[in-house]
Amino acid sequence: MYPQPLRTLVDELGRLPGIGPKSAQRLAFYLLRQPDEDARRLAAALVAMREETSLCEVCCNVADRSGRCDTCADPRRDTAMICVVEDPRDVVAVERSGAFRGTYHVLHGALSPLEGVGADQLHITELKARLADGAVTEVILCMNPNVEGDATATYLSKVLAPFGVAITRPASGLPVGGDLEFADDATLGRALTGRRPVEA
Ligand SMILES: [Zn+2]
Repeated sequence: MYPQPLRTLVDELGRLPGIGPKSAQRLAFYLLRQPDEDARRLAAALVAMREETSLCEVCCNVADRSGRCDTCADPRRDTAMICVVEDPRDVVAVERSGAFRGTYHVLHGALSPLEGVGADQLHITELKARLADGAVTEVILCMNPNVEGDATATYLSKVLAPFGVAITRPASGLPVGGDLEFADDATLGRALTGRRPVEA
């Protein structure tokens, strides 16, 4: 049996994705052995992450407290094009491909009845609001190439159809069943350049 503070840390670490009870114990004991300032730096980074980040008021990507992410704050980006992705990490993947100069919209998830994720939990209302003034001409549905991603893209193509914007999806060629963030830059770039209209 460990002292309570250590047990609490093991419990908290064990709640992280991919960390089982054994890994949680190993990490906790590792941290216990580290110099005091190292553990304090980690704790401070966690607190700062909560206190100093927010969601971008335009695209819902992660931003600092200024209210806008780097992409939305950049006047050189083409605001007539929106690339819709599931996760902030997908923004990084698309940026790395160098094939897109528009703006993004981050849903923070994908439709998944099995995991209880419905349309209400995704940032779709914010996306519709961005289309209301008619300035956006194309929405690229850049979901992960898997079942949840496909379901999300199909749903979005229906709810966005009334706005009269071009709705496209990346060309096939992305590894099916995989995650966008693991696609190599050239493949993702080709898929984006060769995007196709979605039939609503
Ligand atoms: Zn933004």
